Formats: sequence, C-alpha cells, structure tokens
Amino acid sequence: MDNNTKHTELSTLGEFGLIDHLTKNVKTQQKSTIKGIGDDAAVLNFEKNQIVMTTDILTEGIHFNLMYVPLKYLGYKSVMVNLSDVFAMNAQPRQITVSLAISNKFSVENIEELYEGIRLACEKYGVDLVGGDTTSSMSGLVISITAIGEAKKDDLTYRSGAKLNDLVCVSGDLGGAYLGLQLLERENEVFKVNPKEQPKLDGYDYILQRQLRPEARGDVINALKKLEVKPTSMIDISDGLSSEILHICKNSKVGCDIYEDKIPLDYQTKKFAEELSINPLVAALNGGEDYELLFTVSISDHDKIKNDPDITIIGHITEEREGANLVTGAGTTIPLQAQGWNQLSKK
Ligand code: ADP
Ligand code: MG
Repeated sequence: MDNNTKHTELSTLGEFGLIDHLTKNVKTQQKSTIKGIGDDAAVLNFEKNQIVMTTDILTEGIHFNLMYVPLKYLGYKSVMVNLSDVFAMNAQPRQITVSLAISNKFSVENIEELYEGIRLACEKYGVDLVGGDTTSSMSGLVISITAIGEAKKDDLTYRSGAKLNDLVCVSGDLGGAYLGLQLLERENEVFKVNPKEQPKLDGYDYILQRQLRPEARGDVINALKKLEVKPTSMIDISDGLSSEILHICKNSKVGCDIYEDKIPLDYQTKKFAEELSINPLVAALNGGEDYELLFTVSISDHDKIKNDPDITIIGHITEEREGANLVTGAGTTIPLQAQGWNQLSKK
C-alpha cells in the first residue's frame, strides 16, 4: 500500500488540518457552483434544469482490496462509479462531495494519493469537488461519494421507457473488468505464497485497466446527443448485463431477446477467460464493474447509430409475457437470470 517512504501519522494534522491539507488547492469551475468547500454547505444554482443526485459507498475488504489496488486508482474509480450513474440518466455531472472514514493505519501521504486520483477524475470530467466529510474508522477505509448532475427535463432517461421493438444497445465491451479482477486476485495469491515472484500481467493491460481505471461513458452520452438520438431507457452496467437488462424490462414492463453472439467481448477478455477455462459470456452477463451503458433506442434511430464503433446492438425489446431471454448461437432461448454482483446474498 505504501509507495511513499514517508509516513506522516494522520494525528499530526488532526481532522481539520487534514481537510485543509487535502482541499487547499481545490478550485471550482462550474458556473452552477456558487459556493464550494469552506462553509456549512455548498451552494449550487441550476436555474431551470433538473438535478440528478446519486451516492455510492465503497468499503475496504468488500469493494476493494488495497493489496493490489493503488490508492490513486481507487480515488479515480470511486468518482467514475458515481459519474457513470449520472450519465446513465443522460445528465451531465457537475459536482461531487467526498466523505471518508479513515483508520489510523493510513498516513497523510496515503490519503494524498487517494485525493490525487479524485482530483484527476474531477479535472478530466470538469466536475467540482464541493465538500464532504472526514471521520475516523476502527478498521479499514470507507469512501462515500455523492455526485450531482443536471439535465433538461426532457433529456432525462429512466429505466422505465423501453417500448416494444426498441433496439437494445451497449457501449464498449463487457466482462473485461471481471476478468481483470480475476487476474489481480490470482497474482495476489501467488504473491502471498512467494513475495519474490514477479506478477505475470503481461499482455493483459486492457482488462487490468478495465478493472483498475474504468472511464464513465460521458463520451457515449455526447455522441448520442450529436446523433440526435435520445435513448428510450438507459442504465449503467455495474452488476453485469443480465441484472441490468432485467431492471429495464421490469421497470418498462417489457421483455427482450438478447443475442449471445452480438455481446461485445474484447480479445483479452476472451483470452484470459480461456486461460481460466470459463466462458467469457458469463463474465459479461454476471460479472461486474464494466461501467458501460445499456440503453434502448427506437428502431427508427437504427441508421443513426449503426456505424458508431462504440455502440453495439445486442437485441430488441419484446412483449412482457415473452420474458427476458438470451438467444444462443444455436438458436436456443434461455431465460436471463439476475445473478448480479449481489454482495449481500453471495460470498
Ligand atoms: P462540518 O463541521 O460542517 O461537518 P467540516 O469541518 O467537516 O464541517 O468541513 C469543513 C468543510 O470542508 C466543508 O465545506 C466540508 O464540505 C469540507 N470537507 C470536509 N471533509 C471533506 C473531504 N473529505 N473532502 C472534501 N471536502 C471536505
Ligand atoms: Mg464534517
């Protein structure tokens, strides 16, 4: 965990000292940010637009393992997880707050690294850090981020808008983050047995990046806007394709047919799945943390999206009574099941 040789105890700064230290260079750039860090609450002004707000909590040992996740990456990813939810509403993220519970095993330098990642994410996506809270924890690190975004009322996309015959689309490719995690866990086990052994990560940079440094797909939101396509429904893929498409079907009161051989998989995802003797489709359907967008569009928008390299049409919406199905290459129909990343029932 400690890349720095320096280890300044958190107690040397105290809570207020730490907050000052972490936030002293934070500047805001959004015109909707009236007051950022430094008062009892931030003040925001969105005029006529609607506000979306979303929170995620990440707990050490449950959502991340600091044996192989660098704190800077963790900071970056914690922000992405939230921005992805804002984009999934077809909104633009504007502000975040960051709340931390920190145990005394962490040094000031560790938390600086975490903030380095948070700052990088804010800069890249033009989002203001406008507040948070800082407290101590008895065990590990807990990070809770809230993101605020804005959209015109008519631009918002809900899970409930999919209509019969709509096309089902995904951005990017799926399953990579899950396989990246399997790779990191495998090498971590090797390391625990023999710390001198070099990790074998060569040739798998893409799936590692998918796990460690995901990007929220604001580019896809912007591309759709440019193409003048408004999705009829949308959700981000944090728990695997199966569980997300079932959310859309349930909320929209529709069914769907998803074609197995249309689901986009990267070469490295397939290669490492083969090495582990697992089906990469299972990683796409039931893995987690891809942070791609799953959305439906009217069939009349087909020509506008068909040539976009970031978008794949994987199926279509059917009637509710037909259920949500996976159609295999051989033409067999299998009901999709939500085996999502349910931490409360699994593990
Ligand atoms: P309060 O007593 O009202 O909770 P704090 O002393 O906790 O105020 O916070 C002071 C200011 O610093 C507030 O603007 C708060 O939002 C901000 N802040 C506190 N912790 C963090 C953090 N981890 N990251 C960013 N801003 C923070
Ligand atoms: Mg506080």
